[in-house]
Amino acid sequence: MTHQNSHLDRFSIESILRDMRYAPLTVCLILIAVASVTASPWSRVKTSVAKRFGQDNAGASQWTEERQLEPYLIRSEFPLGDIQDLVQDLGDLQVDLESMLRLECEPRPIQIYLFSSKRTYDQYLRIRVPEGVNRQALYVPGTDAGRVYAYRQRELEIDVRHETTHALLHNALPYVPIWIDEGLAEYFEIPAPSRSKGHRHRKELRDAIRYLRWKPNVEALEGKRKLMDMDANDYRDAWGIVHFLMHGPAEAREALFVYFDEIQSGAAPTPLSQHLRERIPNLNQAIIDHLKQ
Ligand SMILES: [Zn+2]
Repeated sequence: MTHQNSHLDRFSIESILRDMRYAPLTVCLILIAVASVTASPWSRVKTSVAKRFGQDNAGASQWTEERQLEPYLIRSEFPLGDIQDLVQDLGDLQVDLESMLRLECEPRPIQIYLFSSKRTYDQYLRIRVPEGVNRQALYVPGTDAGRVYAYRQRELEIDVRHETTHALLHNALPYVPIWIDEGLAEYFEIPAPSRSKGHRHRKELRDAIRYLRWKPNVEALEGKRKLMDMDANDYRDAWGIVHFLMHGPAEAREALFVYFDEIQSGAAPTPLSQHLRERIPNLNQAIIDHLKQ
């Protein structure tokens, strides 16, 4: 139990609850606990992580398969051969994210726990991350490793890519504004070939533009401080802005890269909206025109 206790000394929980049939995303919750543990050097972290696995494995292991695929350690209650495409995607996810966002992830391990059912998932989390029980998937940052938990259901692959995107972003940046964190996780949660045109948010935003006179509001998204401030429309809108950043004019990407550089520098960054407005006249119309296509 020392493993879980030390882990819970410092954690924040990102969790998503998806309606299985209708609105895919309904609730996202984050809880942040006070940090009191200092980060250990990588080599020490690695040793202690290995030891912990050894201890866990000494008991009756619930894992059917355990696979190291840098930076991931995947532990699964079912054969990973059943989700071969997902495992392959995870291998590509860090490369995609680093190249598209011009970021470099630190080699902090990411543990991915996959459960065969909601029952065993809840059982596992109840004693380790009780706040995560009843959520469909979650990412828990930690000083030794990021941890992703998910269970087998129709949207497992989306959930794992979504939560693992959070883990990778938090390995790359000292701080990730919540709306960008979620917008990017939504963007990367589907397989790479579908990312530019295949996300359900694309149709949702087209419809909103056509029927509801939807307008982007980057500044309002920037005002969100906690996951609980983000509703389903905010996720959709954050995805829309991220899509504009990824596939819109080059100036939009340039603004994002400058913004990330500022975050990396440790100084208070100029809001991304400001970087965008300096480079793109009529930003709102440019975003609408991009998303209407
Ligand atoms: Zn998320």
